[in-house]
Amino acid sequence: MDELEGFTRREKIAYFSMEIGLKNEISTYSGGLGILAGDVIRASCDLSIPLVGVTLVSKKGYFSQQLDEKGRQSESEKNWSPADHMTLMPEEVVVRIQNRDVRIKAWLYEHRSLTEERIPVILLDTDVEGNSPEDRKITDYLYGGDSRYRLKQEIVLGIGGVRMLDRLGFRISKYHMNEGHSSLLTLELLRRNEMDSGRVKDLCVFTTHTPVASGHDRFPYELVREVIEDEKQIEALKKYGGEDELNMTVLALNLSDYINGVAKRHREISEKMFPGYKFKSITNGVHSYTWVCPQFRELYDRHIPGWANEPELLVRVKNVPNDEIWQAHKDAKKELIDLVNRKTGVHMDYDTLTIGFARRMTEYKRPAFIFSDLERLRRVNRAGRIQLIFAGKAHPADIRGKQIIEELFAHMENLSDTIKIAFLEDYDMGLALKLVSGVDVWLNTPKRPFEASGTSGMKAAHNAVVNFSVPDGWWIEGCVPGVTGYSIGAGIDADRPPEEIEEIERDDLYNKLEYIIVPKYYKRRDEWVSIMKNSVELIAYYFNCHRMMRRYVTEAYL
Ligand SMILES: *Cc1c(COP(=O)(O)O)cnc(C)c1O
Repeated sequence: MDELEGFTRREKIAYFSMEIGLKNEISTYSGGLGILAGDVIRASCDLSIPLVGVTLVSKKGYFSQQLDEKGRQSESEKNWSPADHMTLMPEEVVVRIQNRDVRIKAWLYEHRSLTEERIPVILLDTDVEGNSPEDRKITDYLYGGDSRYRLKQEIVLGIGGVRMLDRLGFRISKYHMNEGHSSLLTLELLRRNEMDSGRVKDLCVFTTHTPVASGHDRFPYELVREVIEDEKQIEALKKYGGEDELNMTVLALNLSDYINGVAKRHREISEKMFPGYKFKSITNGVHSYTWVCPQFRELYDRHIPGWANEPELLVRVKNVPNDEIWQAHKDAKKELIDLVNRKTGVHMDYDTLTIGFARRMTEYKRPAFIFSDLERLRRVNRAGRIQLIFAGKAHPADIRGKQIIEELFAHMENLSDTIKIAFLEDYDMGLALKLVSGVDVWLNTPKRPFEASGTSGMKAAHNAVVNFSVPDGWWIEGCVPGVTGYSIGAGIDADRPPEEIEEIERDDLYNKLEYIIVPKYYKRRDEWVSIMKNSVELIAYYFNCHRMMRRYVTEAYL
């Protein structure tokens, strides 16, 4: 076990996540949750936090997105080769699934930080000789297949993960479940601790990310019984994970001593959704160095040395002259516009106010919200030219999400005589960095209160891009109106009928664009650059993963 020398000496925090965005070429992530997990690994490494990541190898990835001229999405496998990035360990463990022994092997990925620290990530793989062809595929697809497939994956992740850490010689002081997918690990910990739930709770930390009841993984017990046949285990699941159906969130809630939401608002929502449980909140952050584009890295290096490992130093951004901020932004923007023009037939300009929207294409994110009133949007464009760039994948089973992409394409077509609009295919970490640094305004219009935190706006702020967003998730904490960016429909009484709320938000969106954002961008450039700098000074210095991980250490891990 030479590879693990040095990793197993100290006790570690085990960080379990169904997806971890390690790097762009490794398709083990689908979106916000996975990117956050990757940022946790990166920040912990910078800070020398003794942590080991555990996830599935997802060898066929999430998926690669193709769109035809009407915006109809098709998907293909995003195969990648673990051997190009990591080492196969000789150890194996076994879990019981559907009355069969399933053998699991592990890949060791080593993340290295700028500070020359290393952090191990264990990627579990059931593609082992001796397993049935069906079982060999359990760790192929991230969020693919039916609920039986998902449950099998969660057995591999939760139970297999704990066994593998043990087998590799890790000593674990805390098990951190990033979302409920890994909460079967509690079952393995119960077994090892004579079913003493108090001892298991002392070992477990749980972070929930989902403010909608339907978003939590749930399994009917008929299915659970077929996959996990052990009656004693079923009994424990019923006791801690729900009598009528197995709810992975409830299981984690009942067996973790520390439970948190990912923004202050999300904590309140979670306490309403799960009465009787006491939640804490640690607002998300992003890994600063990863999410700052090369132009701004260079600028910060010159004026704020040390910022990458101490992002709180970004609070000194006022030391950077306005014209240098503007120039770095123009350079980043040029790169994005060139990319858009290369990839699409839309001939965008360098000097036009550019609005970006990129995230998962799904109903609650309301990607088409800016097109709710085309006449108003045309009016905005007459006040000063705008152009729009979109990106995002719809989950293959999200029919509505796919429809929304087609709607965006229809609006693109309708407006093609007046407003330049582009949709970039196959949103991933690489494209995300280009977008959050290359546009002028980062738009976010989720339906409240469904955005648990959101992180892409924090990435934008790190690159002095101005946020324009519905006050939900992190933006409730990040927005100082007119100072760090702009809100859409702030202060609405949440008890109003949904149509009224939407009406007010729509009105506010167009008004702010037409009367505040567009004029400031074109006519009062100095004021605009102040808001750009405030985004760095008042958002990036705080909404970063270094701050977030220090809080997990002091509040949850120690
Ligand atoms: C940051 C990021 C996300 C999360 O974006 P939100 O706007 O917070 O939902 C999703 N996908 C990718 C590729 C990202 O980089």
